Amino acid sequence: MISKSIAVNNDGHLTIGGADCVDLAERYGTPLYVFDENLIRSTIAEFRESIKKHYGGNGRVLYASKAFSCKEMYRICRSEGIGADVVSAGEIYTAVSAGFDPSLLVFHGNNKAYDELLYAVKVGVGRIVVDNFSELKNLESIAESLGKEVNIILRIKPGIDVHTHDYIKTGQIDCKFGFALENGEAMNAALECLEHKGVNLKGFHCHIGSQIFTTEPFCDAAKIMIQFAADFRDKSGVTVTEIDLGGGFGVKYVESDDQQPFDSFMATAADALKAECDRLHFPISFVYIEPGRSIVGPAGITLYKVGAIKHIENVRTFVSVDGGMSDNPRYALYNAEYTIEIANKATEPKSFVATVAGKCCESGDLLQEHVKIQQPDVGDTLAVLTTGAYCYSMASNYNRIPRAAVVFVKDKESRVVINRETYEDIIKNDV
Ligand SMILES: *Cc1c(COP(=O)(O)O)cnc(C)c1O
Repeated sequence: MISKSIAVNNDGHLTIGGADCVDLAERYGTPLYVFDENLIRSTIAEFRESIKKHYGGNGRVLYASKAFSCKEMYRICRSEGIGADVVSAGEIYTAVSAGFDPSLLVFHGNNKAYDELLYAVKVGVGRIVVDNFSELKNLESIAESLGKEVNIILRIKPGIDVHTHDYIKTGQIDCKFGFALENGEAMNAALECLEHKGVNLKGFHCHIGSQIFTTEPFCDAAKIMIQFAADFRDKSGVTVTEIDLGGGFGVKYVESDDQQPFDSFMATAADALKAECDRLHFPISFVYIEPGRSIVGPAGITLYKVGAIKHIENVRTFVSVDGGMSDNPRYALYNAEYTIEIANKATEPKSFVATVAGKCCESGDLLQEHVKIQQPDVGDTLAVLTTGAYCYSMASNYNRIPRAAVVFVKDKESRVVINRETYEDIIKNDV
């Protein structure tokens, strides 16, 4: 199977974390997001141990919580002893509400509002990743007004063009995030940080993209970041102590995705980083990594009920389900690939070619086209696999469809961690 969490039981039903998907759909209703908590925890542990192995105590895993953010997820991160990335005051608020230590939060974003920065500094967010010059000015004024020092990391575009979808590439110059290296912008920004009172430049950050399957871009990024930190030292006399290498580790959505052991990324990047530190006589920095998709993606699935089946002779067969782009916009956004199973027929051959469509009023509301599934019938429970990342977090109320519930399975026991929205919820802000 595509993920360690998924198996088939004696009834021929798909299971996640040992729980029967058909039972889960019956008990909680559909559409339904289901996560295997044990896989989330073991993946976090894998990254944590990997960082320990390659950098000793001198590093930290930050869960990129935009992949899937809710109170229970921050509780899990807390209990696993890792930090988290946040990209809005809403995510900070969620983390803090769950009792997460704000000093372990790192605040990203290319357009943080003044009020969001103020809130972050007030609650004691550990690091602010500065993305532009106006943010620097705002942080100086916030530091002064609150009588606090603000620890920052500067976001650099290392100029690496990775082989992934255009919308999830972030390291090249033509990108809205961060300061570019090749035109001197990053160096100017770093030097400018030293001019702002109350703002402490701790280090440099890069995030080259998402769903990356090869280790070389991470090695290149590590080298470029150390080289930049050394150049900055030579120009300014200041030696920064932190390097954040971002996330982007690829996961398996379909059989052809060649998911690598996450430790192999860590090992080769650490070797490259240490060699570069050696070469430039630069002290080995405190290293952050920011996995998002890799922690939650393979641990989650979405369950639907099959409704209308429309066969169009010599064209295609639409198999419509009771969710769609409202709970998973990723196919509509960037043709994301998925593996799909009919949970109540998991042992049957996948001999049927379907276009799985959602129920939204939008022709582009598809979950997958020309995908092989088991012979579908009305009432079947259909499972889209590897939906743990960027699905619930990207869900919307398009067509006033209530957001689906999220259930965690741990040791075969299931529990709701996010309630299904009600129609009351849908109108609660209407006046
Ligand atoms: C999105 C993002 C991540 C996580 O990326 P994944 O591909 O989900 O691992 C990490 N860091 C930053 C700054 C991001 O924007």
